[in-house]
Amino acid sequence: IYLPERKNSAGLPLVEVSVRRTLLSDIGKALKTPFAAGPIVNGNATTAGDAAALAVSPHDHRERIGTVRLATPQNLEDAITSARNASAHWERTEAAERARILETAADLFERDRATLLAALIREAGKTLDAAQAELREAVDYLRYYAVEARRLLSNSIRLRGPTGEENTLTLRGRGTFACISPWNFPVAIFTGQIAAALAAGNPVIAKPAEQTPISGYLVVKLLHEAGIPRDVLHLVTGGGKLGEALVKDTRVEGVVFTGSGETAWAIQKTLVDRRGAIIPFIAETGGINAMIADSSALPEQVVRDAVRSAFDSAGQRCSAARILFVQDESASRIRSMLAGAIEALDVGDPLDYATDIGPVIDETAQDLLESHKVRMQREAREIVDLAMPEACRAGTYVTPALFEIDRLAKLDHEVFGPILHMIRYQRDQLDKVVAALNATGYGLTLGLHSRIESVAQYVAENARVGNLYINRNQIGAVVGVQPFGGEGLSGTGPKAGGPNYLLRFATERTRSTDI
Ligand code: GLU
Repeated sequence: IYLPERKNSAGLPLVEVSVRRTLLSDIGKALKTPFAAGPIVNGNATTAGDAAALAVSPHDHRERIGTVRLATPQNLEDAITSARNASAHWERTEAAERARILETAADLFERDRATLLAALIREAGKTLDAAQAELREAVDYLRYYAVEARRLLSNSIRLRGPTGEENTLTLRGRGTFACISPWNFPVAIFTGQIAAALAAGNPVIAKPAEQTPISGYLVVKLLHEAGIPRDVLHLVTGGGKLGEALVKDTRVEGVVFTGSGETAWAIQKTLVDRRGAIIPFIAETGGINAMIADSSALPEQVVRDAVRSAFDSAGQRCSAARILFVQDESASRIRSMLAGAIEALDVGDPLDYATDIGPVIDETAQDLLESHKVRMQREAREIVDLAMPEACRAGTYVTPALFEIDRLAKLDHEVFGPILHMIRYQRDQLDKVVAALNATGYGLTLGLHSRIESVAQYVAENARVGNLYINRNQIGAVVGVQPFGGEGLSGTGPKAGGPNYLLRFATERTRSTDI
């Protein structure tokens, strides 16, 4: 058993009314001052000025949450030059010292909990529960990669060789890393990528998603405060063009990316075309994730876990379940229970603790999801599609829906939102279901509900997925416990929050000495 020497962050017990009340009041106070974000190069933040654009909340577009400045080409150039110069001193800094700084940062994240949660709720539209889960994950990444840096990078490995020869293998930083992260986990994934790159001894240029620069800005500020040198970590704010310019620069020696498959391909192409050193590209993308429930499964448990897997965070998780395969014998029962459970979901302001489903991130996402619903209304059987509450019309909301489709081929792309599809399968067709899922080429998460050991065994052996969850929900991988990441179209690995993650951020050096 691999037992890490640390505990995961517990968070606050939000079910306790008094705890929640205090936290919500602190979040309210944090929201009184508008956020101001922008690039941070060498510790200098540029946030003010005419060039700053207004940031509004996806919950209500009339709600101005702050201002954001985009990075200029000069900001990017300065960041890359500075990071490159910082490489030597950061790589020489003891791994234990780098780890200590990351652990200090974890404490600061907990100190500034209310501000970070305020950003997650208002900038990313997360509910309080989802925001807290995300903050805990970020804290876990910091502490976990600190432990991993000590384990992997503090000592060289001595290798047996002929008498009179000494052989050692050492892990070192690779050089400047570009960390390009998504809007759906603007604190956790953003922090995880940066923490791993820093822990392994690399300077970092972090580009948060265009939709969530404020969260990224707050994180970088805290990392600097914890002691990450100003020349070692820079923040550049902007969209795809900025990302492309960053990756194109041959001074960038490693890229870690989480986001869409399209962008992953574009990055890979840029890396090929720029020539220069062949560098690691760590990509985590999407999935067409299923949950399979056979007739031995407990219907109540299937419904509870399917709802959580499909609708938590308004379905905006790459791990989320998009299709529920139900064995024919129990399909009608599960379908009607599922419809009831979905009808009970509250859609609304994520600041309201009763809310289950907050907004989706922006209008582009909303349009894609709405047009998928229209297509499904034509091609599938609508089981539920909740009515839009009046109070949600000022933001980008999509109501949870369930459609029954007759075959997997109807779902030819990842539907990144609160829409679940259900497909019936016959008792003897489990192998066909698994084969069809494998044939999509994606391989991120799979849920299985079955009380038959041989079924679990079959699925575990044959499903090509990175994370298989049996008799539980399939989201919210815990750092150091459920290393997360997919294969095939879903990403390159290594798994975030796992014992092999840091290895890809480091380079190996062998030294052989005749003594
Ligand atoms: N790690 C997250 C989970 O297990 C999902 C990450 C993502 O959506 O990119 O739910």
